[in-house]
Amino acid sequence: MITPFLDRPRIAYFSMEIALASDVPTYSGGLGILAGDTLRSAADLRIPLVGVTLASRRGYFRQEIDDNGRQVEHPVPWDPSQRAESLEAKIVVRVNGRQVWVGGWLYIVQSQSGGTVPVILLDTDLPENDERDRDITHYLYGGDQVYRLKQEIVLGIGGLRMLQALDFNVRNYHMNEGHSALLAVELMRRFRYHDRRRSEEQNYNVPGVRTLCRFTTHTPVEAGHDQFDWGLVQELLDGFVDLDVLKQYAGKERLNMTRLALNLSGFVNGVARRHAETSRKMFPGYEVHAVTNGVHPRTWAAPTIAALYDRHIAGWCHETLLLNRADQIADEEIWSAHTTAKKQLIERVQQHCSVTLDPEVPIIGFARRMTAYKRPDLLFSDIERLRTIARRYPFQLVFAGKAHPRDEAGKHAIWDLHRHIQTLRGDVRAAFVPNYDMAVAGDLIAGSDVWLNNPLRPLEASGTSGMKAALNGVPQLSVLDGWWVEGCVEGVTGWAIGNDREGANGDDAESLYQKLEEKVLPLWHGDRAKWIALMKSVISKNAAYFTSHRMLRRYAIEAYLR
Ligand SMILES: *Cc1c(COP(=O)(O)O)cnc(C)c1O
Repeated sequence: MITPFLDRPRIAYFSMEIALASDVPTYSGGLGILAGDTLRSAADLRIPLVGVTLASRRGYFRQEIDDNGRQVEHPVPWDPSQRAESLEAKIVVRVNGRQVWVGGWLYIVQSQSGGTVPVILLDTDLPENDERDRDITHYLYGGDQVYRLKQEIVLGIGGLRMLQALDFNVRNYHMNEGHSALLAVELMRRFRYHDRRRSEEQNYNVPGVRTLCRFTTHTPVEAGHDQFDWGLVQELLDGFVDLDVLKQYAGKERLNMTRLALNLSGFVNGVARRHAETSRKMFPGYEVHAVTNGVHPRTWAAPTIAALYDRHIAGWCHETLLLNRADQIADEEIWSAHTTAKKQLIERVQQHCSVTLDPEVPIIGFARRMTAYKRPDLLFSDIERLRTIARRYPFQLVFAGKAHPRDEAGKHAIWDLHRHIQTLRGDVRAAFVPNYDMAVAGDLIAGSDVWLNNPLRPLEASGTSGMKAALNGVPQLSVLDGWWVEGCVEGVTGWAIGNDREGANGDDAESLYQKLEEKVLPLWHGDRAKWIALMKSVISKNAAYFTSHRMLRRYAIEAYLR
């Protein structure tokens, strides 16, 4: 039922992907997880949001790894009627000169505390639509530029119209990344004076649009931003808006969705302090705030860890800063909760990879979208060195991650990892867990002893898996990029790879080996009490702070109440 959600003004939170649940395949990676965690925090804290996304009935993909270590992609169809309620409202958008009907599903995000947040899943798979338009909302990040622009028309323009048809009272529109920026253009059309003495451009009330729009950018490379040829825009959106006016806000050469969102939003932010600095350099003249990402506490604490907090730190799920009392928890209890999480990971690895890991040896975990800038092979720059370290201080490795079907470098990295795992056989136990999703992430991150992250600076906007590690008392070993610039206290919350200089990327492999051999592994093998003290400071300093509760409270105060 939609009615209970219409009682008060809401923030409409638009995102191309939202991770609603591990087995609802409407997400591909970090962006979707962040969107899901934002809505889960909103439900916990009773901050009135309404999520808007695509139904993605055919999902992203299920990853299988064949005998040669190559990624094989399988469709993951899901049936929204099993998890969501069909909405009666339907609206129309014009795409390529055709009327495209957009229907919707209501998914309800439930908090343990009883709060709820509605999410609208937009769906063009309706009998009244032309065959060519029925699959617009099917494939998350599938298809070509034409398909992508159609999806963004449905998300931005369709989403806004759907909220209106459902009678939502929207107080602000929050664009999570630029995919939904056409919603701001739809607002421009509505906020229009009809004054003949003014020019076409002056008739658009852009300041009025800005008071409604908020924009979070996630991509620190220009090439990562969606851009569409004006010819294509003209073809698909003919007559929607005066293109000469639109060019003023979206770029002369091409329609740049990030520029559009930047120009039409009254509040803009990057997802970590470092990322906001990078964005200001990329887009001089814009005020880019920093709201550092966070992760949802109940979702990402392993069950045994959550039970531990429940016993010792009442209320941590609402006021996560209370986790700074983790030093009061007995060593044995922390260690036993971690050991249980580790056992669960070892079982998963046995089941899915037929690799037997040893609970008495530390596990280094590395899982993320497999793509070149994340450098999944950095650890293998010098295999002999790795073997030497392992002889002194044994360790084991667990990997996971999907490559986008068209990211050849990413797929190659997966194949490479499998080759390295074979090469190390007999010296280092290692496994690649297929089909990285929320469930795999939960087990892998909490069950690891050390979380590794080594992207090329400054390309990691935030990175959130290390925050999930912190929530489970797992220290991170990472390049100083994204959130780690704020989260790293050397030897206290984890360790830095390399230094904080731009262009320091070339020295990272050496630094990684040194930190492993001289700091991380000797401590794990040498002094259990000191290691547990480290786990406690990870929890009190980082788990307490890097949560989506803190993040959303900041959005509420600094962006929504602005
Ligand atoms: C947390 C998470 C991510 C994002 O992790 P990063 O550290 O930002 O790369 C991606 N995929 C899944 C399944 C996750 O749980």
